[in-house]
Amino acid sequence: MFFNEEFETLPREALEALQLKRLKAMVARVEKSVPFYKEALAKAGVTSDSIKTLADLQRLPFTYKQDMRDSYPYNLFAVPMEDIVRIHASSGTTGKPTVVGYTKKDIETWSELMARSFVAAGVHRGDIIHNSYGYGLFTGGLGAHYGAERLGASVIPMSGGNTKKQIMIMQDFGSTVLTCTPSYSLFMAEAAKEEGIDFRDLKLRVGIFGAEPWSEEMRRDIEAKLNLSAVDIYGLSEIMGPGVAIECCEAKKGLHVWEDHFIPEIINPETCEVLGEGQMGELVITTITKEGIPLIRYRTRDITSITYEPCACGRTHARIARMSGRSDDMLIIRGVNVFPSQIEAILMGVEGVEPHYVLIVERRDNLDTLEVQVEVGENIFSDEIKHLQALSVKIEKQIKEMLGVTCRVRLVEPKSITRSEGKAKRVIDNRNKA
Ligand SMILES: [Zn+2]
Repeated sequence: MFFNEEFETLPREALEALQLKRLKAMVARVEKSVPFYKEALAKAGVTSDSIKTLADLQRLPFTYKQDMRDSYPYNLFAVPMEDIVRIHASSGTTGKPTVVGYTKKDIETWSELMARSFVAAGVHRGDIIHNSYGYGLFTGGLGAHYGAERLGASVIPMSGGNTKKQIMIMQDFGSTVLTCTPSYSLFMAEAAKEEGIDFRDLKLRVGIFGAEPWSEEMRRDIEAKLNLSAVDIYGLSEIMGPGVAIECCEAKKGLHVWEDHFIPEIINPETCEVLGEGQMGELVITTITKEGIPLIRYRTRDITSITYEPCACGRTHARIARMSGRSDDMLIIRGVNVFPSQIEAILMGVEGVEPHYVLIVERRDNLDTLEVQVEVGENIFSDEIKHLQALSVKIEKQIKEMLGVTCRVRLVEPKSITRSEGKAKRVIDNRNKA
């Protein structure tokens, strides 16, 4: 099933011709209207007229998150304020947030791409979408909301929080689709269980989970606990919001990037060299239709790989692999690169271990130490101490063998790790705190 069959199945050649046309037009717009790009393009020696093929994209300069911060709030906007109909901002963990503006057409495009994403996930008209992404400056809530309405499904604008009420509404309103972060879906499952509610008695059929990296193992856990088909969605406010890429329910093997609006590249984050299919690196995205705040080669910091192989669903758009994490989140423990999601994948493979964990990194005597705190089930926790010890040693060994990093595993009581209603905090890095 497609939302826009013509564009979703455009033959590669036609898709690339469209990308080139749109890329040239976008560069022509920003070289006139955005002083930042006018300067950056002149420095790189590129004009819109000198772009002849898609390979010329590699001659264009990168845009970094810092450039957006430096342009706070509106200096990267490519249209006058009277054409901006919506403003969002991404949560800045440090300092000011990054601000994005949308024209009426940008909102229409976003709504269509979210509607396409819903259909790809197996959602259709008649579905009741329980939207637990936060409404507000964060793009998740309104992005999914407009897409649901564009599709013609019924949307419940729940936003995050008040989990008991969420579950009651899901039960009473007959929600068939759930949208939230993967960690919040597990929190809901746990809360429902405490209330004596079985997800098998609910009507939920599809879950669309994103805004944080999660593993294949966690997908299996969520699908079992919530009794639904779980798909991964990707987006970031700088580029648009949710719906930049999504898994199709037919294959669930990589997320289709809507390439008629975005050009993805994978680069080596250190050397900036563009990498080939299948190679892991940083995702770089160029927006080719955005009006409010077009971005050239935006460095997402997200680590993935790309494939152009045909997909079982019939969509011709390239697929990126599930995110391994953000290059910012990558931990370097005594010289070894580790992503929290890699540790998660190992933990999820251990029987009796719950999908709630936190990684604590310290520096003692100039040596990095990693402690993995993970919850175990009630029956395991009440087991004899020696059994618990044997289990931690087993997990420590697996992490050492698979990731090459030494760590200490501490099994903790059920429900002792703080739950999140939005993005889960998986890492506490105390190394730079003097
Ligand atoms: Zn597909």
